[in-house]
Amino acid sequence: MIDFVSRLKLIAQLAALIALLSFPAAKMDAQAQNTPASQPATPAAGAQTAPPAAAAPPAAAQRPRSTDDAAVLPDRAAMLRGAYGPFRANNDLLYYHLDVRVDPDDKSLKGKNTIRFRMLQDGTRIQLDLQEPLQVDKILMASTELKYQRDTGAVFIDFPQTLHTGQVYSIDFYYSGHPRTTGRFGGITFKTDPAGHTWINTACEGIGASLWWPNKDQWRDEVEEMDLSVEIPNNLTDVSNGKFVAKTDLGDGYTRWDWHIHYPINNYDVSLNIGDYVHFSDQLGDVPLDFYVLPADLDKAKVQFAQARGMIEAYQHYFGEYPFVKDGYKLVEAPYSGMEHQSAVTYGNLFQNGYLGRDWTEVGISPRFDFIIIHESGHEWFGNSITAADPADMWIHEGWTTYLESLYVEYRWGTADAIKYINGYKPKVRNLRPIVGERGVNAEPPADQYFKGVLMLNTLRSVLNNDPAWWKLLHDLYQHFKYQNILTEDIIAYFNQHTGLDLTPVFNQYLRHAQIPRLELLFGEAPGMVMYKWRADEENFAMPVRVGTPGHWQTIHPTTQWQSMQTLLSKDDFAVDTDHFYIDVNKQ
Ligand SMILES: [Zn+2]
Repeated sequence: MIDFVSRLKLIAQLAALIALLSFPAAKMDAQAQNTPASQPATPAAGAQTAPPAAAAPPAAAQRPRSTDDAAVLPDRAAMLRGAYGPFRANNDLLYYHLDVRVDPDDKSLKGKNTIRFRMLQDGTRIQLDLQEPLQVDKILMASTELKYQRDTGAVFIDFPQTLHTGQVYSIDFYYSGHPRTTGRFGGITFKTDPAGHTWINTACEGIGASLWWPNKDQWRDEVEEMDLSVEIPNNLTDVSNGKFVAKTDLGDGYTRWDWHIHYPINNYDVSLNIGDYVHFSDQLGDVPLDFYVLPADLDKAKVQFAQARGMIEAYQHYFGEYPFVKDGYKLVEAPYSGMEHQSAVTYGNLFQNGYLGRDWTEVGISPRFDFIIIHESGHEWFGNSITAADPADMWIHEGWTTYLESLYVEYRWGTADAIKYINGYKPKVRNLRPIVGERGVNAEPPADQYFKGVLMLNTLRSVLNNDPAWWKLLHDLYQHFKYQNILTEDIIAYFNQHTGLDLTPVFNQYLRHAQIPRLELLFGEAPGMVMYKWRADEENFAMPVRVGTPGHWQTIHPTTQWQSMQTLLSKDDFAVDTDHFYIDVNKQ
């Protein structure tokens, strides 16, 4: 939690930011225009908190992560990145064409992003983002050079005439320079593979895609489709998102690789993977499967990546068709554990089952499958197709995708193993602060969003206590929200509407408070009787739970008020079904 003094500071900072964002463009014009950045780059929020691409790595799971104990106070760059201010809200993204040349020796980029957008209200200014030390070379609308002002990672662009509501506009944003490498996975890294060949990869969730290319760097708005043209030296291969279109020898030692993304895509999912890749392929129904690995790993990959078929079959069983059929599904070797880059999932899990060679949930089930293939690909449904509209709601990506891991287990090996797998996550939960944090400040929630997230969803299944209804709810929820950017409230409203239950206090207790509900049991007030109630932060918390003995469970409906029930069981024998309900129990 943020302490009170810090909260006051935060409020003051936010007030200053709102004042800045609301400042009339004319006033800003009086200030310096087209001023190159004169100050060294300020680290953005993502530089302080590790990108959450995969679940926390094994080492991090054993010690506190910086994001667990306290929310990091946002700095100016994080607030400009995180706020959906008026110069973002006045337009709707339609299309990007990122056309970039990558110089491996110089470790530099040069190119342009053509950005098409529709104005949602009249205006003369929009906000895009490009992080320092990358340079803005020029910004054009047709042949008119536009004025702009940089403020940490934000680039405020001013138009000489009013842009009108409903009209579509296109600008070309030229940029160049040496992107910085930062964050757990580097953002963008210029490495060499073990054979000594160039290996360049991007993974920029958290730190933001504006680390390496100019875009509207936030989570609420996505383009409808995108082209990606990547110019690289002739001897290398680029694997990016979407469908491969063509490669063209440019005659100057470089080849351009063109990819087309047919679907909405989050900025941080846009990915370059440039290296000495070899390719093999497969087909699953209508879904092309393409695999790209280093030559030395080809034989291992052909064995390990066969798991992709069963993964897609399992998730299609629960949620429906793979979301990006026209783009296909790819697995691409990368020099970090893994990341859910849309339709081009990056993989660095050692071609072994488990997670980096370990039994991830330590109950004997994780070694049956490749954690990175199963987890990162699950994000195609939750994270890429359904996307949180603010990083504060990122459990929609990570809690759900961790639940998808258990669905894969359930599909392959049955319910009992799935429940065992889910409960293996309990020791990783810390319950130090809520999963859903401050919105508008680009802050990553604590790792509980993964582990407590899956345990909460498993609890909700038990609350429904009707598996056919549960499977229908999951399927229909996905279908309802696919390709959309949503908030926690949207999920809760959907659950309430389609179950007929008021689950808001249950969701709120698990998502918006640090502590989980505690079932208070009081014995000995009278012979053969037990008193029970919930202790929870949510005033109206009420949730059924199963008590008694395994195999002979009885459902009770505790609230925050004492109730009583008859029991023949002693205090020691009276059990609570904590494998299916993630709760604390206090017997007195
Ligand atoms: Zn994930």
